[in-house]
Amino acid sequence: MQHSDLLSRLGLELPAGGSGLAVRSPVDGASLGTVPVTAASEIPDIAARSQRAFEAWRNVPAPRRGELVRLLGEELRAAKEDLGRLVTLEMGKIVQEGLGEVQEMIDICDFAVGLSRQLYGLTIASERPGHAMRETWHPMGPCAVISAFNFPVAVWSWNAALALVCGDPVIWKPSEKTPLTALACQRIFERAVARFGSDAPADLLIVVNGGRDVGEALVASPLVPIVSATGSTRMGREVSVKVAERFGRSILELGGNNAMIVAPTADLEMAVRAIVFSAVGTCGQRCTTLRRLIVHKDVRDALLPRLKAAYASVSIGNPLEAGVLVGPLNDKGAFEGMQRALEQAKADGGVVTGGERALADQYADAWYVKPAIVEMPAQTDIVRHETFAPILYVLTYETLEEAIALQNAVPQGLSSCIFTTDIREAETFLSAAGSDCGIANVNIGPSGAEIGGAFGGEKETGGGRESGSDSWKAYMRRQTATVNYSKALPLAQGIKFEI
Ligand code: NAD
Repeated sequence: MQHSDLLSRLGLELPAGGSGLAVRSPVDGASLGTVPVTAASEIPDIAARSQRAFEAWRNVPAPRRGELVRLLGEELRAAKEDLGRLVTLEMGKIVQEGLGEVQEMIDICDFAVGLSRQLYGLTIASERPGHAMRETWHPMGPCAVISAFNFPVAVWSWNAALALVCGDPVIWKPSEKTPLTALACQRIFERAVARFGSDAPADLLIVVNGGRDVGEALVASPLVPIVSATGSTRMGREVSVKVAERFGRSILELGGNNAMIVAPTADLEMAVRAIVFSAVGTCGQRCTTLRRLIVHKDVRDALLPRLKAAYASVSIGNPLEAGVLVGPLNDKGAFEGMQRALEQAKADGGVVTGGERALADQYADAWYVKPAIVEMPAQTDIVRHETFAPILYVLTYETLEEAIALQNAVPQGLSSCIFTTDIREAETFLSAAGSDCGIANVNIGPSGAEIGGAFGGEKETGGGRESGSDSWKAYMRRQTATVNYSKALPLAQGIKFEI
């Protein structure tokens, strides 16, 4: 493949060899070039630069900070086609999803621009006469964004757009598997800064490419009060302890094990379409991918043959080509992990359809697979584990209570959904005794969230929230201030302390 035009339009001129991070495309395994890396030992200096940027940026009025994000949104609109294609090339998702990811970046910029005039505090009634009490939100400091390979650009933008309007500079450590898209975003951001004017300090965004050691150095830095980390639960477990040790704040977006309950009254036509998109889309490599299908025993026989027929019709192939719905797994390790999970599922009594390697003749160095459906006799350990590949485990239930208990009986708590036309079932699923996930949908699959809502999940998913609603509060510090405009000095709770 020859992609030099695309790379140069995005401002990326890369040496073919040399030292650094070698980037390969999961589409065909070909090299895309070598990217310079940051050494972990450089992180203290980088954090100090970011801190200096913070000291200037926090004094720029929030609506003016919003103007920078508005310009970033404009630059992203102009670069959408190219950046979307680069996401496909470097990560392997189909172009429609690559473009969707860039659209999500544009959407969060729009959201953040509005937010820049709405970082509302509170006025609070004081119990003392002649006193006024208020709560104000102030910028917090440099925000580290550690991101995963599967959403190489959108996750950065959810964090960066909010952090920037909140007055925080960003240090971004992208996945070592997707450094190019990060560099492209940095170039796009630089264009926005050039148009913005001189009140943008240097170093508002610093991209640090490299491996886990670079992430670890960022996590350890006392100059970085916020660490927003997206990735595996293993990573989150390490990061959360390190950040907590120094009393920093972490925003964790970790693994999911998302389920759909298909109830007896479900619209099966809609359910099949939702299952296929959310279980095989992005080749099963979304944190919100549908991994468990919990089907009522009375509809199982009507649903499964339709689902298998739909799976058989899904086109697997080069994600850059129109009409393809399923691209490759990211690498050989992902393929091997998938095969191990399928072997274990079989050993547990599961019946597997699909799951084999595909297109090996055409793409010897890439890892295409047929998405798998696995009918399980029970929710065994392998079902409770997130395997980052297109495996859909099918379980059967008789009562809604049993279905909800199955849905909740996994360590992760990201996304969930129910297909039903029975309002009692739908509301029970959404109630306090229903789904225990951060995201719970009715008649919509578990993946493909809009940016307006808070995104994230509970338990081993980490508890963080990003994107919409009031997620912005995680990027600011809260200050409670009481002003005495009287000539007396009354104490709270009526305490007398005369001197
Ligand atoms: P990963 O955990 O291997 O890597 C994620 C990032 O963390 C990378 O940048 C990596 O270099 C860095 N990292 C790894 N160990 C670190 C450490 N000890 N300290 C600091 N940084 C460290 O994850 P991945 O394979 O890139 O992504 C797939 C995983 O991400 C899946 O589990 C998926 O569910 C999850 N994910 C979650 C969300 C969400 O919003 N909940 C979104 C996307 C992906």
